[in-house]
Amino acid sequence: MAKAQPARSTIDYYGIKGTNKIIRAGDCVLMRPSESSKPPYVAKVEKIESDSRGHVRVQVRWYYRPEESIGGRRQFHGAKEVFLSDHYDMQSADTIEGKCNVHSFKSYTKLDAVGNEDFFYRFEYNSSTGAFNPDRVAVYCKCEMPYNPDDLMVQCEGCSDWFHTHCINMTPEEAEKLEHFFCQSCSPEDQKKLNSSHNASRHIEMKVDTKRRRR
Ligand SMILES: [Zn+2]
Ligand SMILES: [Zn+2]
Repeated sequence: MAKAQPARSTIDYYGIKGTNKIIRAGDCVLMRPSESSKPPYVAKVEKIESDSRGHVRVQVRWYYRPEESIGGRRQFHGAKEVFLSDHYDMQSADTIEGKCNVHSFKSYTKLDAVGNEDFFYRFEYNSSTGAFNPDRVAVYCKCEMPYNPDDLMVQCEGCSDWFHTHCINMTPEEAEKLEHFFCQSCSPEDQKKLNSSHNASRHIEMKVDTKRRRR
């Protein structure tokens, strides 16, 4: 015999307790973590439902912070970078602390100012295997690292590659004043023909460790 399910119905919006903010499906939210020492969880609200007693639950899709991923945080991960995971949960709406914005990588780099509630994502993340999509990412500079939007870079007018100021022994102040920049391989005193391999697009694989971490 089928058990009676508590009656649940999908609702259009939810008001965050103690605020005048309204959440709808598709919004990104910050949720209270299980340990108070941790930063809030970042999630996308997929669905909002209420039971007959008015208790509201939300179906969320988690964004993982680099620290929460199997491979951990790497040097090129931005401070505000999150990964769109395939991990869904039902959570009580009471754990929602506020709204946030998860931008695409491109629109994040165009923000005039980055607020507390601004994040970005460029990778989807498989929470059981630790794999990323895309699984290859372009690298820049002589250190061959993917772009980290937190690091200031300057572009070479010869080869068009980008360089970290700290990798070319320049201070950010010097870089801001710079009108022209040629990297070591393109510098006028050392006018070599552009090496085609230097210009070729370079990528690294997004490697995955074997250890697993659970939320
Ligand atoms: Zn570098
Ligand atoms: Zn160059």
